[in-house]
Amino acid sequence: MTSAGSTVEDAPATRFARRARAVIPGGVNSGQRSVPGLTDLVITRADGARFWDADGREFVDYHAAFGPPLLGHNDPEVAAAVAEAGRHADLCGVGVTPGEVELAETLAELVPSVEKVLLTSTGSEATFHALRVARAATGRRLVVKFQGCYHGWHDSVSLNVISAADRVGGKDPISTGILPEVLDATLVLPFNDVTAVRRTFAEHGADIAAVIVEPVPHNVGCLLPEQDFLQALRDETTRHGAVLVFDEVITGFRHALGGWQSISGITPDLTTMGKAIANGYPVGAIGGRADLMDLFSTRPGAPAFFAGTYNGHPAVVAAALATLAKLRREPVHEHVFALGDRIRAGLAEVFAELGVPSVVTGYGSVFVSYFMTGGVPRGYDDLLRNDVSMFVGYRRRLIGHGVFELPLNLKRSHVSYAHTEADADRLVEATRAAVKETLASGEV
Ligand code: PLP
Repeated sequence: MTSAGSTVEDAPATRFARRARAVIPGGVNSGQRSVPGLTDLVITRADGARFWDADGREFVDYHAAFGPPLLGHNDPEVAAAVAEAGRHADLCGVGVTPGEVELAETLAELVPSVEKVLLTSTGSEATFHALRVARAATGRRLVVKFQGCYHGWHDSVSLNVISAADRVGGKDPISTGILPEVLDATLVLPFNDVTAVRRTFAEHGADIAAVIVEPVPHNVGCLLPEQDFLQALRDETTRHGAVLVFDEVITGFRHALGGWQSISGITPDLTTMGKAIANGYPVGAIGGRADLMDLFSTRPGAPAFFAGTYNGHPAVVAAALATLAKLRREPVHEHVFALGDRIRAGLAEVFAELGVPSVVTGYGSVFVSYFMTGGVPRGYDDLLRNDVSMFVGYRRRLIGHGVFELPLNLKRSHVSYAHTEADADRLVEATRAAVKETLASGEV
C-alpha cells in the first residue's frame, strides 16, 4: 500500500497496460515500442522536448518516436496547420488538393534527385514502391541491401537488420512467414564494402533491379558512409542499368533539407522519405527521376500500380507544409547540430572520466554511444563488439533520472529544435549517474 492507500497495481499506467495486453498483441501497436522492463509505459502527453506518462512522470525525450519530431513534439505551428486543415476537409479520395501540389513542388525543389514525387502514409510503403517500380523498369528480379539497414516491414527488405554474429553473412529474416523465394531475391552485402559491391555486380549485374541503402545506416545507431562506397553504388548501378534507391526516411530533412544526397553530392535515381517531413504525422514519399516515376500509374496492370486511401491526406499535407516552412525559415539545423555536438562532447568526457571504453558518434542531431574499443565502426561487423549490457543497462537507468533514450541495443537518439542547452547538460549529467549505477550493479 502507498501512503495514499492505493496499491502499486492501482497505478493508472499499470491498469492501462494490463488492459492493452488483453486486447493488443504484446500491448503495443508497433514492434519496438515494447521495451523489456518497461511494459507499463503508458504515454498521455508529449510537448516540446518532453513526454509524460499516465502516472504523471515526466521524461526529457531523446527517443523522439524513432525520429519524426525534428521541431519537437506538438509544435504549435504544425498543430495549428493540422487544426486549420481539419476545418476545410477530411478526405475526398478523388482528384488532387492544392496542398498536395504545393508539397510535391516543395519536395522537388529541395531534394536533388526528385523530379516527380508521390505521397504515401509510411516509409515502408515508399520503399515497397521503390523496389516495385525498379523491377517494373528493369524487368529484373534481384535487390541488393546492406547488413544493418532497415527499410520497413515488407518482405523483400525484412532481413539482416540487427543480426546476431552467427547470422551475419547468411539470410537473417526479421519475421517468419516470408517466402524463401522472396528472401532469395534479396542479396545482403556489408556496408562500406566497395569490393563486395563490385564483386556482386560482376556476378549478378544483369539480374539486379535495384540497390537500396540507408546512406547513413541509423537503424544500427550511426555508420557514416565512406564517399567511395556511395560513389561505387552510383557507378555500378549506372554501369549495369540498375536503379539506385537512397532510403532517406531518417536522413531526409533531419540532416539537411536536401537529405544526405545534398551532403554527399551523389544523386540516386529514387529517394524514399518519411518521418521528419511532417514532424510526427503519418507520411512517406517516393520521388526521383521523372522517367521512373512516370511508370507509376493509377490504373491496374500499368507498369507499376500505386494507390493508397490515405495518401496525401489533407491533415498530413498541412503538417508537412508547416514543418518544411519552419525548417526553411528558422535556424533549426544550426540549433540541433550545435546541441548534438555539445551532447557528443559531454558524453565522451563522462565515459573517459569513468574509464568506460566508448565510441560516441552520430551526425548533427543524431547521437549514439557504443561501448567498445577499436575506433569508429565502419560496418555492422564492428558493432558486434558493442557491450550490449552497458548499452541497454545505462539507458534503463537513465529513465529513473527522467531522461529517455530507448533502452534497446544499437538504437540512436535524436535532438529536436525544442531541446535546450540545459536539457543537453541534464542528459550528460544523468548519463554520468546512470553509468555509475550500471557499473556498480555488477551487470557489466
Ligand atoms: N526506412 C528507414 C530508413 C526507416 O528507418 C524506417 C522506419 O524506421 C522505414 C524505412 C519505414 O518507415 P515506416 O516505419 O514509416 O514504415
